[in-house]
Amino acid sequence: MGKIIDGKAAASAVRARVKSEVENIIAAGGRKPCLAVVIVGDDPASRIYVRNKVAAAREAGMESRLEDLPASVSQDELISLVNGLNADPEVDGVLVQLPLPSHIDESIIIDTIAPSKDVDGFHPLNVAALQLGRECILPCTPAGIIHLLYREGVQIEGKRAVVIGRSNIVGKPVAKLLLDRHATVTLCHSRTRDLGSVTREADILVTAVGHAGLISADMIKEGAVILDVGMNRSADGHLCGDVDFEGCIGKASLITPVPGGVGPMTIAMLLQNTLKCYKRHVEGA
Ligand code: NAP
Repeated sequence: MGKIIDGKAAASAVRARVKSEVENIIAAGGRKPCLAVVIVGDDPASRIYVRNKVAAAREAGMESRLEDLPASVSQDELISLVNGLNADPEVDGVLVQLPLPSHIDESIIIDTIAPSKDVDGFHPLNVAALQLGRECILPCTPAGIIHLLYREGVQIEGKRAVVIGRSNIVGKPVAKLLLDRHATVTLCHSRTRDLGSVTREADILVTAVGHAGLISADMIKEGAVILDVGMNRSADGHLCGDVDFEGCIGKASLITPVPGGVGPMTIAMLLQNTLKCYKRHVEGA
């Protein structure tokens, strides 16, 4: 029987460490780190994510500013709001919740966020720095996955790692982070032929697809470490991942549940990134 990776506990530990660093900063007379979160429109899922991010920042003792804009806001108005946050010396991190309404070009908005305040790690300069192996702000979910592997003492070097999903926010960056740690990495996607023949090779399997039940027990290797990023609704309405958890737990050595696995790490890493931006900001000031 595989061990369940407790993402909630791992995230709580990161959040407690960030909170205690913030307390030390404030006790020493420093300014509170500040995260600005921008939401456009009424997408219910986005509203929940944003509320959780704002609450988590406050819970860590940070300042958190919510910029709540109607779906009718123009691209130029959003750009000028982001520019204002970029220029504000009291703001350390800027996050624009995606997706944006279709009349707004997401790439232009991401490009507008100051790279030094880009707590999501989506700005092209941060993406390029990651590819070049330079110091950068890491995207939150991939950073959380690597954190879980370290916390569980999983050796990455020399292992066969398979990542399913090639998004810019999860699949590609997590593949690069595994490569940097000397895994032999295969990146799969919707055109991959005979997915099972690839996933059965994986010592470490990361799934970031959004397809419930994509990975069944016959598709994994005995003793594999499985990190399930997928967030799906099962037929009975429950939140579930891409992996058949019940089927795979007997064969995996370590496995993340959904919910309670990778998900909680994303917000923890966001707080860690905000603190990192704050420190650089204050030191550079
Ligand atoms: P995405 O942009 O939705 O793309 C999905 C990826 O899966 C694509 O690369 C697609 O291939 C691939 N794919 C689709 N069907 C496939 C199949 N049958 N076999 C193999 N690959 C297949 O990806 P994302 O934004 O990274 O999101 C993926 C999942 O992770 C979603 O469920 C999302 O909700 C979840 N997520 C969770 C967190 C968290 O904090 N836990 C954070 C981000 C995302 P193509 O490129 O060929 O289309």
